[in-house]
Amino acid sequence: MKTPRWVEREGKGWRCGLCPRGCLWTAASPLGACRVRGLSDGVPSLPGWGRCVSLSIDPIEKKPLYHFLPGSLILSTGPAGCNLSCMFCQNWEISQGDPRTHLVMPEVLAHAAMEDGSRGIAFTYSEPVIWFEYIMETATMVKKAGGAVVMVSNGYVNRAPLDELLYVTDAWNVDLKSWSKEFYESICGGNRDTVLESIKRLALSGKHLEITFLLIPGRNDRPAEWDEMARWIAGEAGSGVPLHISRYFPRYRMTEPPTPLSLIYDAVDAFSRHLEFVYPGNVSMESNTVCRKCGAVVVRRAGWSVDRTGLSRGGCASCGAPTGIVDSL
Ligand code: SF4
Repeated sequence: MKTPRWVEREGKGWRCGLCPRGCLWTAASPLGACRVRGLSDGVPSLPGWGRCVSLSIDPIEKKPLYHFLPGSLILSTGPAGCNLSCMFCQNWEISQGDPRTHLVMPEVLAHAAMEDGSRGIAFTYSEPVIWFEYIMETATMVKKAGGAVVMVSNGYVNRAPLDELLYVTDAWNVDLKSWSKEFYESICGGNRDTVLESIKRLALSGKHLEITFLLIPGRNDRPAEWDEMARWIAGEAGSGVPLHISRYFPRYRMTEPPTPLSLIYDAVDAFSRHLEFVYPGNVSMESNTVCRKCGAVVVRRAGWSVDRTGLSRGGCASCGAPTGIVDSL
């Protein structure tokens, strides 16, 4: 049985310190809120260790990562559970439901991550940080084989485990779900400031970072909040951090209609006042990266098709200016 890290004895139970929820695992309530960590026969354990919900080789743009190994394929998987409970979860069958899982040993996953054209592994679909021990083991093997390790995360993790994950990961996409603290508390069951701290830490770490903002009409669509959020990202993470404004569709417990395309483009314009790379997401429109110096198209994207002829060793093929795109490991 695998032993969890970040747990301490407390009274008759065990306190998990991996994320700010700080679940107390007891005989009466043996499973953490994320459902992959808890007690088995009274002993701290990892019931979700290695239990993969899905395994597929995806375009890296689907994560979404637009400035990291553009045009690559990456093996993607994740656990069945999450440490937040967002009412609008776009993947709720995996994060909150009871999906079928398959046990995949780290060496098998690490091997598959370098096969069939895959450049590495992306931990995604629900929340990967709750899989901390499994990721540390698998990612170490992938790194050793020269592969990339990607995390697509809600950023809801305590500082010490995040710092350890930095040793074995290359690129992160973190959700910033709203600028409103109240939104995080009442709709997601978490707190915003932990996420902001994670974004700051990742930006400082030098790991590749992109941010996703799922735009929900009537919930996080106030331009004044967008402006504050954009200024904060530019100030704390850097104006060159790519931001994906993703279209919401009604899922799980939220029934508002899908985000109108016009609202997505209003937000792209608003965030672009402070950020250099703002992309619409979950929409079937061309979405290109343009050189900041000469205006040439560096990477052209339509759906999952990627034309990167304008990119040369991470720079603009026309004028040679750096683009901020990571083109090799
Ligand atoms: S990682 Fe899971 S068990 Fe640990 S505190 Fe967070 S939700 Fe609870």
